[in-house]
Amino acid sequence: MSTISVNVVTPDGAIYEGDMEMVSVRAQSGELGILPGHIPLVAPLAVGAVRLKYEAKIDLVSVSGGFIEVRPDNVTILAEAAEAPSNIDVERAQQAKKRAEDRLERAKQEEIDFKRAQLALERARTRLEVAGK
Ligand code: ATP
Repeated sequence: MSTISVNVVTPDGAIYEGDMEMVSVRAQSGELGILPGHIPLVAPLAVGAVRLKYEAKIDLVSVSGGFIEVRPDNVTILAEAAEAPSNIDVERAQQAKKRAEDRLERAKQEEIDFKRAQLALERARTRLEVAGK
């Protein structure tokens, strides 16, 4: 089985690395699946879970925006923030989710605060998904 080398890095350092059979990410243009030998590309990322598949296992990493750079034999995910499941503080994510939901109830759709609260809710939901909650 051919593999592609994957690195997930943030301003705080490397979060994840390994040789994968497939990687899927949530790009701003939609879900993107990458196999070894993929054509080169750079794409902006949305908030979402990155799925990393190897030997019938799937690892998840939560990513809060940034960029993916694909080359035929390696993928770099440059994330604004990223967490592996073991690094996720579930209680913190649950509190962030509650805070964002309360703000969304109060904010009007067109307000900047609405968009901010929506993104905060997406980050919290993604962290809870990746942590298996
Ligand atoms: P909060 O409101 O709890 O700070 P947030 O979504 O606003 O959440 P970010 O701005 O996305 O937080 O992230 C700031 C830093 O905190 C990043 O380094 C990120 O990895 C980390 N972080 C945020 N939430 C969690 C969490 N639930 N568990 C572990 N690390 C977290």
